[in-house]
Amino acid sequence: MLRRVRLVTWFFAALWAAPVFSSGTPPLPVRTVNVTAASAAVHANPEAATGYAERELAYAQHFMVSAANPIAARAGADILAAGGSAADAAIATQLVLNIVEPQSSGIGGGGFIVNFDAASGQVQAYDGRETAPRSVDAELFLQDGAPMQFREAVNSGRSVGAPGLVRALAMLHGEHGRLPWAQLFEPAIAVAEQGFAVSPRLHGLLSDNDALRAQADAAAYFYDEQGQPWPVGHLLKNPALARVYRTLAQQGPDAFYTGWLADRMVQAVQEHAVPGQLQATDLEGYRAVRREPLCMPYKVYTLCGMPPPSAGPLAVMQILGILSHTEIDQYAPDSLQAVHYFSEAGRLAFADRDAWVADPDFVDVPVSGLLDPDYLQARAALIDAHKSMGKARAGSAGAVSAPSGQTLELPATTHLAVADADGNVVSMTTSIESAFGSKIFVEGFLLNNQLTDFSFSATGEDGAAIANRVEPGKRPRSSMAPMLVLHNGKPVMAIGSPGGSAIINYVAKAILGVLDWNLDIQQAIDQPHYGSRNYATELEQGSAIARHADALRAMGHEVRELDFPSGLQGLVLTPTGIQGGADPRREGLAIGQ
Ligand code: GLU
Repeated sequence: MLRRVRLVTWFFAALWAAPVFSSGTPPLPVRTVNVTAASAAVHANPEAATGYAERELAYAQHFMVSAANPIAARAGADILAAGGSAADAAIATQLVLNIVEPQSSGIGGGGFIVNFDAASGQVQAYDGRETAPRSVDAELFLQDGAPMQFREAVNSGRSVGAPGLVRALAMLHGEHGRLPWAQLFEPAIAVAEQGFAVSPRLHGLLSDNDALRAQADAAAYFYDEQGQPWPVGHLLKNPALARVYRTLAQQGPDAFYTGWLADRMVQAVQEHAVPGQLQATDLEGYRAVRREPLCMPYKVYTLCGMPPPSAGPLAVMQILGILSHTEIDQYAPDSLQAVHYFSEAGRLAFADRDAWVADPDFVDVPVSGLLDPDYLQARAALIDAHKSMGKARAGSAGAVSAPSGQTLELPATTHLAVADADGNVVSMTTSIESAFGSKIFVEGFLLNNQLTDFSFSATGEDGAAIANRVEPGKRPRSSMAPMLVLHNGKPVMAIGSPGGSAIINYVAKAILGVLDWNLDIQQAIDQPHYGSRNYATELEQGSAIARHADALRAMGHEVRELDFPSGLQGLVLTPTGIQGGADPRREGLAIGQ
């Protein structure tokens, strides 16, 4: 019998209690997008904060799953207990997340997977990022020559990319699965058919989502006949998704990309009031990509993560590489000086990210230049210990490229980390982009709006082409940062988070917390958030860190306080067992045996 390591009483008690939410979702910013205009909107958190519930560090001897929902984490742990590999458990967990946390991820979206294979001692990276339809051009998000309203773009057929998650999961399973593919669908089919209790967070996010309510198919599933969101604890069943899962279980991933299911997705996108250009050929032609993982030495460790088209791990590595030339590890994690150094390093990394990173199949991303130790040392030298540099400029990193452009990445994503008893580890971040994606609901699942991660404008203010502009078949730049930390060739940590571009700061600070500040993984996740995305220096609203606001201003920082609903899920692997952490800002759980 699987031992539940972490107490989950809070969660189930919460199912029956009056939900505690912050006062509503901040409105979506009105966006007139060009390279500079997005800066005002970079703080948006449309998947709202829904409270904070303390967690305890979880321990296990053999295996562990940390995921954003207890039902999903349990499904993964059951697969591990049945002899499944970390890859098997990640797949089973993800399939359940699609049902119980539908706002964040699912088969209508994409994701990135980083896997450590114990037998070979190698790390693999799988890219299941959505692609732009083949018939689009750089004007996809322009109306009468001007960028369209961001909210309209999100809630439309136009933003839907060819979903990559199913192909990526199948690729992971093909190379690292142990149990039969069909078996991995069983827990999710059971949850879909028998139903699950609507969680406080799902209820809260449904309460304030008129765009979702406006889509008839979505409304029929998520709301009652009066248009009210199902209450906390309501048993919600998803027979349509159960049917889809049975089809995929029996026929494999091709059944998602061809045939009736593909036809339904294409029809829904094309018949939307703001239609998109997704066609059957885009789905049929979708391929996941196995990429060379991005790795960088860091002190006695090696950091590994997803390479571009995600900008996430690259920026995390830059931040940590830059900070290794400062004294940050001499200061407490919640000290003024730590906030200053961390924010300044973030400015430098985000300046480079905004300038250089896009889909590497379309753009030369100067990855090795950006991680070169001499380059990072030179960047660190720009940091003054007592005064903010203000807006950082991108470095030249020894390569020539177009600016990648500003985009507004909205937090609706999920991260999971799995370690099996044989030492295999998976770190996986998946997404449908905004909360409930495009709001287009097909056969029990939501289609993504991931194409809004492209720059809406094709050229910058100087007229130069933007690297992250829309192009046919291209993957939009991401900030998702599924990462592993290795020591002596073996994983010691797996971490990642949702949170749009703030993911980069969440993950960098969690790694710093464990490796440099000797925090346990739960303490590292719990730390109040802070950092800079090369605009204001941001402090987590209502947290103890906000006490530094005035002192930071005196050091030249422009300071903003805002909600930071991260969803860090992480594991630390020690010689004596596995430790797990889950973000108190969401509903996650780490369980193992
Ligand atoms: N679409 C974003 C990205 O790929 C993720 C959004 C989120 O984290 O919620 O970076």
